[in-house]
Amino acid sequence: MSDETTVMIGLEIHASLNTKSKLFCACATDSTLPNSSCCPICLGHPGSKPVLNEKAVEFATKIGLALNCKINEDFFFSRKTYFYPDMASNYQITQYEIPVAENGFVFLNSGKKVGIKRAHIEWDPAALVHPSGMGKSSYVLIDYNRSGMPLIEIVTQPDLSTPAEAREFMNLLENVLGYLQVLKPDTTLKVDCNISINGGERTEIKNVSGFAAVEKALTFELARQKQEVKRGNKIEQHTRAFNAETGTTVELRKKETEADYGYIFDPDLVKVTLSKEFLTKIKIELPELPEQKAKRLQEQYKLSEYDARVLCSDLVLGKLFDSIVSKSADAITAARLLTREVLAVLNHDSLSLSDVDVKAEDLLELVQLLSSGKVSDKNAKQSVINYISGDKSSPKVFLEKNNLLISATVDLDSIINKVINANRKAVVDYAGGNEKSLNFLAGLVMREAKGTVSPKIVLEELKKKLS
Ligand SMILES: [Zn+2]
Repeated sequence: MSDETTVMIGLEIHASLNTKSKLFCACATDSTLPNSSCCPICLGHPGSKPVLNEKAVEFATKIGLALNCKINEDFFFSRKTYFYPDMASNYQITQYEIPVAENGFVFLNSGKKVGIKRAHIEWDPAALVHPSGMGKSSYVLIDYNRSGMPLIEIVTQPDLSTPAEAREFMNLLENVLGYLQVLKPDTTLKVDCNISINGGERTEIKNVSGFAAVEKALTFELARQKQEVKRGNKIEQHTRAFNAETGTTVELRKKETEADYGYIFDPDLVKVTLSKEFLTKIKIELPELPEQKAKRLQEQYKLSEYDARVLCSDLVLGKLFDSIVSKSADAITAARLLTREVLAVLNHDSLSLSDVDVKAEDLLELVQLLSSGKVSDKNAKQSVINYISGDKSSPKVFLEKNNLLISATVDLDSIINKVINANRKAVVDYAGGNEKSLNFLAGLVMREAKGTVSPKIVLEELKKKLS
């Protein structure tokens, strides 16, 4: 049965920018005591005069350039009018007509190009705090510390065709933002997911946090829309909410149109013109980005495209590789160790590199042991498992303590004799032409030697003895 459904997914991602002060006032962005960092500007008092934070513009411009966007040298801010308790001014200062950046693109691993429609700067509303531990409370608290914090909103074209692609895009975007060092630490990207099928109306799933949740919400919504169409129902444009516990989406409201917001030019803010000097400085300051780094690693160290891409898909992982190879370790061995063994243990335990204390020096020692043939792959793997999930001793210490290094002192000859004497049938089978028996015997020798000899040498010695 063929699935002829065409799926169009577009994302709107909100990220908090890592500035010291808010977007239009001097209030600090790192206060933890509720409502301790507010002023007439971020509380939207009439007559207060916002002044644009230059750092936010710098970060937004970097993001635009990293996403291959056209940067608009002249732009301005507009008021998006709506009433909600988290927005004391009753309007959000945002960019509507001319965003700071537009018409960009990125490539997914498959080579697929995903268009970036625009990226614009806006201020964050206050945080609504629902008192917990009281069941369904009859009131909500408002923390205005968040009110006026700088956000960048990145809007993609509806070029994504599967929920998995949406998740891949989110990973890729977060990685680029990480390389740029523009994200406020310990904040999550918040995503509005738009999805339509077969050219029908789209639904928007509001405010999804977490990449797995994005994929889940879209997967549910895709199945729901297919089901509706099958029943002969028409999808109407509307807004939905995602329930992370049930993995389902529910209708929130009929979609308001852009016209409902009554955008007007913000008369308190002057038009911004980015100078040539400013743009040149930003371009010079742009760091090496994941894609460029992956290309460099392939050329510089002859890494495979896969290894290079994986190493650059995570800022911390890439830095770990850099610091291991800076000590002139074998790059291909280092890449293999990180992309295979280290990531396998982390994935298995659902950890990320930032959750664990992995030191470049410790892995460097293991890379040196591996590249000089002093440890088998199997035992190296064990040492990594122990390093991350066991007693955390360094791989070298673990290997030494458990006698798992390949040593010249192991008496291979007597081990082989012992194995041959105890397995006469396999010896006879091998003599009769059964090659598998040789591997069987080699396995027994390896086990007896606890992996401290190289499999190649074991096979050679066995063949000599049995010939
Ligand atoms: Zn303020």
